[in-house]
Amino acid sequence: MIGVFGGTFDPVHNGHLVAAREVISRLGLDKLYIVVAGMPWQKVDHREITSAEDRFRMVKEAIQDLKWAHLLDRVEVSRMEMDRPGPSYTADTLQALHELYPEDELVLVVGSDVAADLHTWDRVKEVATLCKLAVVTRVLATLPAANLGFNVVEVPIPFEDVSSSDIRRRIASGDSITGMVPASVESYIREKGLYRE
Ligand code: ATP
Repeated sequence: MIGVFGGTFDPVHNGHLVAAREVISRLGLDKLYIVVAGMPWQKVDHREITSAEDRFRMVKEAIQDLKWAHLLDRVEVSRMEMDRPGPSYTADTLQALHELYPEDELVLVVGSDVAADLHTWDRVKEVATLCKLAVVTRVLATLPAANLGFNVVEVPIPFEDVSSSDIRRRIASGDSITGMVPASVESYIREKGLYRE
């Protein structure tokens, strides 16, 4: 089974890593693609998004932490949405992976906030036919996703009370983010001066 964990990762944080680790081991994934959105169309109008290249590099650094759980060889950070022009649609990503792995079951990994928002996605019915849906539960949520035709599995994970917006806010106001992101990501953010304004 191949997992697909998409996001803006602006920046990647420990909550993302816990989610990745738990889905790989609990669902016994052969591979987890962490797909960095090139153009996160639902977010671009609301704020300035950090360059895809910076976000990609931070994810590459962050996944090194999975080495200790011996999971690194099952993780691939994907540029496929960065290399595809235009808005990043999960339907296209899943279609491409389905063509690459026609024999394998695909499982889309989302947090419960995203699961509750699936009705706003482009071609969501098509998405539901292409994959199973694994919802990593950050907060207890009822799942309207099943009504959209998704085959849903809930994966309870240790709760990491962190979000990218929280990290951006903390940096902008001069607060520490130590312990919220891997040390390598913290260094990257500091060196590049990201999220300061
Ligand atoms: P933002 O705060 O900017 O909205 P985010 O922290 O939710 O960002 P995204 O890159 O938008 O990060 O999320 C990618 C995926 O990771 C989504 O499916 C989201 O639900 C999930 N996710 C985000 N934070 C956590 C967390 N702390 N624990 C588990 N999953 C998470």
